[in-house]
Amino acid sequence: MHDFFMLMDELIAKAGHIIILTHMAPDGDAMGSALALWHYCNSQFTMHNSQLEAKSSKSVTVIVPNAFPAFFNWMPGADQIRVYEKETAVCNKLIEAADLLLCTDFNDPKRIGPVGVKMLANPCPKVMIDHHLLDPQCSLDIWTEVHSYPTASSACEVVYKLIAAHGALSLEAVTCIYTGLMTDTGNFSYNSTNAELYDIIASLLRAGVQKDAIYNAVFNQYSTDRLRMTGYALYRKMRIYPEYHLALITLSAAELDQYHYQVGDTEGIVNMPLQIADIYYSVMMREERPKPGTPKPRIRLSFRSQGDRPVNIWASEVFHGGGHANASGGELFGSLAQAVGLFEKTYKKYVRVDN
Ligand code: 5GP
Ligand code: MN
Repeated sequence: MHDFFMLMDELIAKAGHIIILTHMAPDGDAMGSALALWHYCNSQFTMHNSQLEAKSSKSVTVIVPNAFPAFFNWMPGADQIRVYEKETAVCNKLIEAADLLLCTDFNDPKRIGPVGVKMLANPCPKVMIDHHLLDPQCSLDIWTEVHSYPTASSACEVVYKLIAAHGALSLEAVTCIYTGLMTDTGNFSYNSTNAELYDIIASLLRAGVQKDAIYNAVFNQYSTDRLRMTGYALYRKMRIYPEYHLALITLSAAELDQYHYQVGDTEGIVNMPLQIADIYYSVMMREERPKPGTPKPRIRLSFRSQGDRPVNIWASEVFHGGGHANASGGELFGSLAQAVGLFEKTYKKYVRVDN
């Protein structure tokens, strides 16, 4: 990691306009890793450019492909983020003008939609900072530097290791890093058995992280509608396949409308069926309203599992997705009924029936 760190620092020192990119539907780890890097770059500019003039000639911007949930609005720097879907022209200009792209919490430009196309059109150096499995078919040629650690709990853990070696981190940066560690491990309930992770947390606490306040800001700020929708999903919309240790929850666009769906409102629901004894697989399907130019609705799928029961192969072979062994996603352009049909047709092939 050290060699890479030197290189990334050199790239940051040389760059004039840095763009930090992360994946669609940004989660706590995407937000945390991107914003921690943003704070770090800003602090590097200040450190290396004592003259105000030099500092002001440099810029660093976080661009996310689409909106992030409101429960991340409090994150330090979140108000400076540009949302590509909302400010496409401005973001295109910024990406064209970038002389360094730092990409975090994804490893395939396809995962960031149209932003990926713009990103590839700029020949500037590109650094990947990630913890997802690499798709064997995916070429690494586009990256100047690859920092891929599939055993890391989160992209934030990787970012921490990259930037902590450089001395004291700001309270803003450590707050962002803690948020990603916490959300990507389900508040340290999975992907979180590595002792080193707790060394990192200890150092974040020493740096002033308010961990309980962060938990509260992310997990205890829901709307009434959101909680009622969760109740509805579990009470009315959860199907259990006991012999297959499997649960399925579906939510149509009309049902989401009833509960005034906001970005992020379904986050976490897919994990809940795993609370049932002997349920080791959980799938959730959410119907999105068709966007202009896409006549068919998009069904967004989330897969979760426990232990040695991977779901990423199912997600990738049947639903054009992928992800981690125990947490994956996918999509289907069509009706919810079609997605359920495909699920019904394929689950026996991809789930293990033994206890
Ligand atoms: P979620 O269900 O929270 O949207 O996604 C779970 C995990 O699967 C995340 O780590 C995410 O990065 C990954 N994932 C979601 N959708 C896709 C996809 O379409 N392709 C790949 N390769 N990974 C995905
Ligand atoms: Mn992540």
